[in-house]
Amino acid sequence: MKVAIVTLGCRTNQAESSSFADALLHAGHTMVDMQDNPDLCIINSCSVTAKADAQSRQLVSRNLKQGRSVIITGCYAHLNREYLASRFPGITIVSNEEKSSLPSLVPLTKEERFVTLQAATQSRHRPIIKVQDGCDNRCSYCIIPQARGASRSRPLPEVLAEAARLETEGFRELVLSGIHLGMYGKDMRNGTDLATLVERVLLCTKDVRIRLSSLEVQEIDDRLLELMQDRRLCRHLHIPLQSASDTVLRRMNRQYDKAYYEKCMRTIQNKLGNIAIGTDVIVGFPQETDEEFHETRTFLERNAFAYLHVFPYSRRPGTQADLMSGHVAEAVKKERAATIKELGRTIKRRFMDSQIGQTVDVLIERQDKNVSHGMSSAFFKVRIEHAKKRAPGSIVPVRIVGVSDDVAEGVPENDR
Ligand code: SF4
Repeated sequence: MKVAIVTLGCRTNQAESSSFADALLHAGHTMVDMQDNPDLCIINSCSVTAKADAQSRQLVSRNLKQGRSVIITGCYAHLNREYLASRFPGITIVSNEEKSSLPSLVPLTKEERFVTLQAATQSRHRPIIKVQDGCDNRCSYCIIPQARGASRSRPLPEVLAEAARLETEGFRELVLSGIHLGMYGKDMRNGTDLATLVERVLLCTKDVRIRLSSLEVQEIDDRLLELMQDRRLCRHLHIPLQSASDTVLRRMNRQYDKAYYEKCMRTIQNKLGNIAIGTDVIVGFPQETDEEFHETRTFLERNAFAYLHVFPYSRRPGTQADLMSGHVAEAVKKERAATIKELGRTIKRRFMDSQIGQTVDVLIERQDKNVSHGMSSAFFKVRIEHAKKRAPGSIVPVRIVGVSDDVAEGVPENDR
């Protein structure tokens, strides 16, 4: 069967979709893009915002109109099973608990039953390894704990085996990801934590570099920072701030205050030097005043972030925040989001300019004629013009010599 997978939302969804594709290829199915007229579309949905909900519904509707079978899974499907079943009878809805068995629901055609098993190849240069699922926190705006359940960690030997296999297959960057990555190991109750995981992945691989997905600020400890001295750990941390107003943070039920976040950020930058710290910001949270918004804006201005992801607050039925009084008008949210997005462009440009003169490791992802395109360890795109071709997947030390738009210009030094 020709199968296409569409993934919305987080890196955990991306990692899960990648393992569906692996399993389906092994079973003899053909993975295709949406434009290649698939027989079946698997939608790995998201419910983090109202917009993600709408995109998930539109994808179902569009695929059905084109006569395709549809399987939908992920957080939107999990939380809206009854609605989907009544609006789109005939589609298959797979809850988050049943997700791992999704590939077995895809029927093989007669011919496919005789296909020789082949190793599935991942097309990406930076595969994501899902190491954890679920979350025990209760941020008041977030529906994820209801959709994904309590935190649970993937057994260490399984993660190590996957990391070693991906290295053998030739990948040079692995992304360790989870819904709440910093909770890794806590449910094992034997002292295993994220630093243990990182240390063991470094030991069981030789040449790959490791990138960590989003981490809560209070979960970045000295041991992890010690490990990050290793060049094989990407010089990049994504640490959600959400707001820099302590009153808003309390209403959000976040577990830190502005002073703590700022102190940790300084510690990380002092210990690790040239590191990219990116963050998420929610604007227009219920009751957010102009003064509270201003606190967030000035905090972002005075601290050296590398980039911002900005989200206008989106109501999620079933969350505490949805029941709060004082919802901010849409027009105000829009205006605040535009202000922070504009600031985000300045912040990103400032960070990229600060990279001029630095040497960074770049993973080559694409080669066009005599230009290579890649991703730096510090998570910005780099364009390298040179006569010598670099194979996609190789890591090249590159001196940054300029910046144009969102892309740094680099000159290769000695290849590793
Ligand atoms: S830490 Fe907060 S925002 Fe992140 S998944 Fe858990 S509840 Fe949601």
